[in-house]
Amino acid sequence: MEEPMTELETYIRQFSSLNRAPGRVWTESTKNRAPHKPILLLAVLDLMARGVITSPFIAVTVDLVELNELFNLYWRRIIPLGQTSSISFPFSRLHNEPFWELVPLPGQKITPASINNIASVSQLRTVALGARMDEDLFHYLQEPASRNALREALLRSCFSEEGRAALEEQATINAEAYSYSLELEQKAHLPLVQETLEADAYKPAVRDQGFRRIVVTTYDHRCALCGVRIITPEGHTVVDAAHIIPWSRSKNDDIRNGMALCKLCHWAFDEGMMGISDNYNVITSRQIAANPNVPGFLLTLTSRSIIGPADRDLWPARHYLAEHRREWRL
Ligand SMILES: [Zn+2]
Repeated sequence: MEEPMTELETYIRQFSSLNRAPGRVWTESTKNRAPHKPILLLAVLDLMARGVITSPFIAVTVDLVELNELFNLYWRRIIPLGQTSSISFPFSRLHNEPFWELVPLPGQKITPASINNIASVSQLRTVALGARMDEDLFHYLQEPASRNALREALLRSCFSEEGRAALEEQATINAEAYSYSLELEQKAHLPLVQETLEADAYKPAVRDQGFRRIVVTTYDHRCALCGVRIITPEGHTVVDAAHIIPWSRSKNDDIRNGMALCKLCHWAFDEGMMGISDNYNVITSRQIAANPNVPGFLLTLTSRSIIGPADRDLWPARHYLAEHRREWRL
């Protein structure tokens, strides 16, 4: 016989009574207690809504970029500048809550001591494969109505009215940014439009996050110009989402007006030190050779093919690349 499903009320109660350490570093906005657990859970709820988390098991062996970015967006919203955190803290400490269980690596044991040692994702990965939430909780989180009830419980129990309002606004931005990124993906398969003026209807925070999400994932975190791809264990990626023709002028978030570029290539491209030819080869400007302070390896990229998305339709549009070359006389 199947066990009856745990009531939603039980999880609402558990979400409302998370064990959170008090501390003087924490402000009134988090009710003077550590905010890590509820903030991680808010990020998990977003990934449930996006359909990114598709089973009760959340692996830490995969890249954690999206989870980490959402965690940081909530975190920065209410935690004073300069105070940072690793997602590994709440990811491991949630083990002490009834609905969340760390799954050890073969041959490892989860003990209070091993949890207390975890301060980075690298350390977490030496102990755990991931975490498993209650199957019933997972089902509730798949449904918008019960997911919202659980989000409400977190916001009400862990944050001040002001903190709650800020986090609610962030949750809305995250949801809109996700829709915007899907919209951009669809539009990129349609003929080019010079200006996507409707994009002006979105808040800058929604546009930035949506454009970044779709460009960075389309390029699989690889710099189109130099090919570097680095994702740290904490889920930080080396690439930015760059516009070919800047947003300020183009108002254009078309994926084909974008590229994933590492910090250095992004800067060099924006400064006109690098460009891309009509047949997608890297062009370097004379400034690079002439300037002894610019890293010489950039010159070795000259005439090499760029590394574009797997889907050829999403490569940079020649039209924008030509405009960039004209602007910088490349
Ligand atoms: Zn690069």
